[in-house]
Amino acid sequence: MTGQKDSSKTAPSEAGASGDISYSLRIERRNVKNINIYLRPPYEEVLVTAPRRLSQGRINAFLQEKEDWICRNLRRLREEKQENRLAGPMSREERKAYEERLKDLLPSLMEKWEALMGVKSRGFCLRKMKRAYGVCHIRTKEITFNLWLGAVPEALVEYIVVHELCHLREPSHNRHFHSLVSHYLPDWKGRKRALDAFFSEQAGAGQTDRTETDMA
Ligand SMILES: [Zn+2]
Repeated sequence: MTGQKDSSKTAPSEAGASGDISYSLRIERRNVKNINIYLRPPYEEVLVTAPRRLSQGRINAFLQEKEDWICRNLRRLREEKQENRLAGPMSREERKAYEERLKDLLPSLMEKWEALMGVKSRGFCLRKMKRAYGVCHIRTKEITFNLWLGAVPEALVEYIVVHELCHLREPSHNRHFHSLVSHYLPDWKGRKRALDAFFSEQAGAGQTDRTETDMA
């Protein structure tokens, strides 16, 4: 499906070029009858509990079968968690401080990267947004940055600047787009991870999701 796009958002949940989602796996042998998969905050690790005598091969086969389910749910849970944080309250003092910092930071970052990339935006505005770090309005060439960025280290703001400016050359999050970002900012994945982690830290704890199958 294709549609006319005149803006492109950098959503917190946006996956890497491959569309894959990364997580670590911890397998614990317990006195249980079934294999259970637990997805818990901060949703970086997947815990699998399995019967003590079950072969590793059976566990691997089960995990392979559940791979889609795990990725789909991790993505959703991580998204929800980040949205909670971005949707959270911002005090008047915070707003003022973030605005001042971004107005101080962004013009020079934009100037630097526009020159390096050979693009020209029509400037930027700041807005508190629930679902995006930044939005590039392709048609007007204006970029909206999320006010919350005022709270993060400069290197992470810089990643969003480069990301949004790359949209002036490529509107979609396709392979070409990611190769552009990688060209200008080879360590962008690490910066994105740090950014996502920043907005995940204080998000809701205690949610648990699980699935299980009867191995008897
Ligand atoms: Zn984007």
